[in-house]
Amino acid sequence: MSFLSTLRSQISCQGATSVTTFAAFLCDKIEPALCQAVYERTAKDIAEDIQKSPDFQGSRANLEVCILRYLAEQENFEYFKQYLMSPKQFCESYIETRVRNYCLDGSRRLGMFLESSLDILYQNILSAVSLSARIVKDRKDREDKISLWLDEFCRQLTEVINLPRSDLKGIEHQEVTDIEFLSSAIGEALEDLRARLMKGFAGADLSLFPRQPHTILAEHFSGCWAQCPFCGAVCTNTMWNHDGDHQVVYHRPEVVTEFAWWKILIPFVFKYGRYEPVIDICSSLVVSDRRFRVGGGPWIPYKTYRNTGALLSTWKILHDSSMQVYWKWFVSRFRTQLEALYNGKFHDRGRIPEAWQRITKQEALSELDKR
Ligand SMILES: [Zn+2]
Ligand SMILES: [Zn+2]
Repeated sequence: MSFLSTLRSQISCQGATSVTTFAAFLCDKIEPALCQAVYERTAKDIAEDIQKSPDFQGSRANLEVCILRYLAEQENFEYFKQYLMSPKQFCESYIETRVRNYCLDGSRRLGMFLESSLDILYQNILSAVSLSARIVKDRKDREDKISLWLDEFCRQLTEVINLPRSDLKGIEHQEVTDIEFLSSAIGEALEDLRARLMKGFAGADLSLFPRQPHTILAEHFSGCWAQCPFCGAVCTNTMWNHDGDHQVVYHRPEVVTEFAWWKILIPFVFKYGRYEPVIDICSSLVVSDRRFRVGGGPWIPYKTYRNTGALLSTWKILHDSSMQVYWKWFVSRFRTQLEALYNGKFHDRGRIPEAWQRITKQEALSELDKR
């Protein structure tokens, strides 16, 4: 080999080393930012996609109907208790379970979602590489081509991944003049990165997401979670800090509320030394001559419930004596469990009408569907 060709080869080798170093350094910086962007994008995509399913298509009122249907289908008293005690937490865990099943069932949708997000972001990065190269080539006035290329590259990716230009200062003085060669070297390094990430996504699970898809979906169903102090039904207002009073369309028999409010409010008749559950509905009681008491306090007429402290004064309970078939079925179906829970019996004022006992689960569910 002549002296000249040896020298040429050495120069070319040095250039190649610089380019390889540059591409490797850049891809090392891109990798965590790309991963994060993939997870963020995928979480949104999953939340959007699952919103197309019937449970999640409508408002929270629609979701509540789905939860009631699920509870009836499961026919598990413990689930009912959890829902009645903590409706918000139950709703969130219901959403989480549904999202988990949707992503990780036999069809392994999670892997497909991740791959699709990675493909889109990868294409965006490739476009930024070639566009930056084109722009730098046209700038004959600038010597610091690499610094200029990095400026342009980061600018192109502002909306795609979080890649601060300041993190790339370490390579901005690399002596690289062949921008086309640089572009193809970065392209190759990116392809390796893509293949590596794709392999990792095949076995991914939801724990890797910094922001979970079910959290995004649950936010869509946020709103006011105040519970009627008498029956525990959840306020239907879609704003968590709404003006005006809390309201709900369907109140429930009071017997279902003891789980949540027993320390505050005891809507039971004290008789023969024990509490007895009542099956009346608060939207009917508020126009009756009946009374309730808070803790061991004095008996208060239901009609003046709004004058009884901050908790009750924020509720507007409209008169409606009708009760959903669903709750009649629930009380009748879980009579034994409710009696054990209250250590009381459904009799006298709390006697369960015979008509309730004839209600089938199917009738309870059919009524929900009409809502
Ligand atoms: Zn109520
Ligand atoms: Zn409210």
